Order: sequence, then C-alpha cells, then structure tokens
Amino acid sequence: MPTYGRLPVTFTKGEGAWLWDQNNKRYLDALSGIAVCNLGHAHPAIHEAISKQSQTLLHTSNLYGIEPQEQLATQLCQLSGMDNAFFCNSGAEANEAAIKIARLYGHEKGIENPAILVMKQSFHGRTMGTLSATGNPKIQEGFSPLLSGFIHVNFNDIKAIKNTLKLHNNIVALFLEPIQGEGGVNIPANNYLNEVRAVCDQNDLLMMLDEVQTGIARTGAWFAFQHNNITPDVCTLAKALGNGVPIGACLARGKAAHLLTAGKHGSTFGGNFLASSAALAVLKTIKEQDICQQAFDKGLLINQKLSTALKNNEHLVDIRNKGMMIGIELNMPCTQLVQLALEAGLLINVTNNSTIRLLPPLIINSEQIDLLVDTLSKLIDQHIQ
Ligand SMILES: *Cc1c(COP(=O)(O)O)cnc(C)c1O
Repeated sequence: MPTYGRLPVTFTKGEGAWLWDQNNKRYLDALSGIAVCNLGHAHPAIHEAISKQSQTLLHTSNLYGIEPQEQLATQLCQLSGMDNAFFCNSGAEANEAAIKIARLYGHEKGIENPAILVMKQSFHGRTMGTLSATGNPKIQEGFSPLLSGFIHVNFNDIKAIKNTLKLHNNIVALFLEPIQGEGGVNIPANNYLNEVRAVCDQNDLLMMLDEVQTGIARTGAWFAFQHNNITPDVCTLAKALGNGVPIGACLARGKAAHLLTAGKHGSTFGGNFLASSAALAVLKTIKEQDICQQAFDKGLLINQKLSTALKNNEHLVDIRNKGMMIGIELNMPCTQLVQLALEAGLLINVTNNSTIRLLPPLIINSEQIDLLVDTLSKLIDQHIQ
C-alpha cells in the first residue's frame, strides 16, 4: 500500500556509514534507517550473531524459556536501572505495553477511568493506541474514534503539567519522549526531566519515557534520561536495539514492574532467539567500543563544524544536538533538501517542515563527518535563499 512517499532510489548493499544503489552509486547515510542502524550497515558482530544463532534456533515462542532473551533482559536492566523487561517487535508495540501498564496502575489505585498525560508534537507510533497518544493531528486525521484517556499538554512546560494535574483527578501517568524526534528534534530545558520526575513522585504518577528513538547510545548515553541522573518507572525501546533486526522492549521498575502478569499481555515473536541475539551483539559492541562517548563527542563536533560552515546563512535559526540526534532549524520550509541531498549522495531527513534532522550511524568516521558537513552546508547555502 502507498503508505510512504518513497524516494526514487533502491539500495543493494551497505558498509558502515556507506550505502550503494542499483547503479553502484555511493551514498553517505546520515539517517541510519531512522535511528535504527546505529552501528552502521553490515556490521561484522551483528552478522556473526545472527548467522550463528540461525544455526541452532530462531524461534520457539514465549511458552518456553529463551536464554538470549533472559540475558538481554538482565543486561538492559543493569544498564538502565530498571527491574524487568517485556519484549515485542517495534516501538509502537513497546508503547502499547506502557499504555497498558499505566491503565493497570490506575485501576489498581481504584481509578476507574485513568488518563495519561502526553505531549503536543509528540510521536509514539501508528497503532490506534499510540496514534491516540501522539500529539499530531495530521497523524490522527481520519481515524476517529481515537482511544480515549490521553490529555495533551505543551512539551518542555512544567507549569502546563502542574496546571493540568489540578484540573483532573484521574491522571495516573506521564508519557513523553526525552527529546522529541519526529516533532522536530525538540530538546527540553536541562532540568525538565528532573522536574517531571519530581512531579510524578509528588503525585504518585508513573513516569514513562518513550526512548524508542533516543535510546541505545543515540544521544551519547545508553538512555537519554541518564543525562539527568533520574530513572523513569517505564521506558520503551525499539529502533536501534537490534540494529535492523526488529525488536522492541518495555522496561519497568518498582510499582510498574509487576502489573503485566500471565494472560494480561503477550507477543508471539517478541524477544525470540534471533532478535535477542542480535540485540545482545548490539549491546556488546556499544560497550566494547565505548560508543556512547563516541556519539557524544562526534555529535558535538558535527554541531561545531556545521555552525562554522553555516555562520553566514541568514535563514539558520538554530543547530541543536544531544549526541548524534541533530536538528538544523531554518526559518523557512526546506523539505526539498531531502531530494537534493539524495542527488548529491547524502541521506538526510526533514521534520516539522523546516528542521533538517541528522541521525548518522554512531560509527561514522572523521572523513565522513567532513563530507557530511561540507555537502550539507553547500546545499543549504545554495538552495535556501
Ligand atoms: C519511531 C518511533 C516510534 C514508533 O516505532 P515503530 O517501530 O515504527 O512502531 C515510537 N516512538 C518514537 C519516539 C519513535 O521515534
């Protein structure tokens, strides 16, 4: 079905941050399959893990023990400070689990009609539940009746949260992205997540973070919430967790960790041998090569280099980044740059109509960084006038 407006290119192979098309033209990938291939394409450690696992077992279902899944849960909990994990196959599914946890939490507290506070300009997925939580009317258009029980407030506005809490006595959880990805690479104030944590503690609400895009080293830490030294009650992951093998996870802690019991939730494929082995190889590689620090340093470097290259462009509003989640906001629409960059051999993305979003593979090297900055800044200077 025509669910995507596809660009006129088909890739046939990749290596690291490079991709090649059917005509053997080479492209620099500054999008990583939308924050999925954080370790780049055709990574030998992922290849080896998948190929080795496929020689013994791919899938047996969650009716039986799955050793790599148990290892993965243990490692994710160690890295995040969470207590347990539910595995599924996508970001939307991970968020569905979080929404179900919040509702169970409310009902356990005796709240019959529990509501979840969510953010305007957020993105949580395309299922009926997650698109109802999403704060973007375009994504919801045509799909009413939406799932009820979501209240949208402004992002990065702690007062808006406090005021809304005064107006409703059925709110049981806050659910938000630490940095809004699809909404335009919106990075909140430094202490925003700390304030959200405090509000949740004071009002006995679950703090639930959608780290589907920010998680797994993208922002220069394993999880974006670690920049704030807090721990959420629920944290969802997907995109980069399998470096391209579909896997999602909903991590939970404390009072949120034991609400989904046998019969309350499930997934046929979730956390099977193949996906769990791929994710274990991802975690091992990030640890061994100190990729969190690399992402932090390279993100800063790209921001500095872009700022220098674009310093005379009067349409530049802001260049912002947290690690390798980078937004270049212009004061005019710039969606045409996606096609122009493609022709120039560079893959980028534009969100929110006027923000160029870069999500390069975290393993990008310094020559590739220079090529990225050079190609992109020239395109912007040429076409944004
Ligand atoms: C991509 C994304 C999702 C949806 O993930 P899918 O795997 O496409 O279902 C949810 N939340 C955020 C923050 C995302 O970036």
